[in-house]
Amino acid sequence: MSTFNHTSLPRSVFTKIIERELPAQILYEDEQCIVIKDIHPQAPIHLLVIPKKPLTSLLDVTADDVLLLGHLNVIAAKMARQEGCEQGFRLIANNGARSGQTVFHLHYHVLGQKSLSEQGL
Ligand code: 5GP
Repeated sequence: MSTFNHTSLPRSVFTKIIERELPAQILYEDEQCIVIKDIHPQAPIHLLVIPKKPLTSLLDVTADDVLLLGHLNVIAAKMARQEGCEQGFRLIANNGARSGQTVFHLHYHVLGQKSLSEQGL
């Protein structure tokens, strides 16, 4: 079991969306995660797959999170297909400020519906 104490962390914007304190376009929700549209889309389809567990990034995960991480991948693929990205999509997780992460609550970006290589992404 992880001994990491999440209650001492500041609540992220994504936690506030999960708890309905902030609005968002919610496309999917279950007990473990939520899928929303990114507020500043970088592609025609730009979704965020966000675990309800407030992990800071992949640098914060432990062996306890193996099933959760698998679930996030399954949901990312399901939502990409549902949004018309069956020809291909990109799954990105920025981890840490030096990677460009700006919201310190683990999330996967699902980007698709345009040739991403054409956009220089
Ligand atoms: P990061 O840079 O941490 O990998 O990605 C954070 C993403 O969250 C950005 O693409 C940004 O547009 C998105 N974002 C930040 N705040 C909000 C918000 O309040 N609502 C939504 N829907 N997306 C947000």
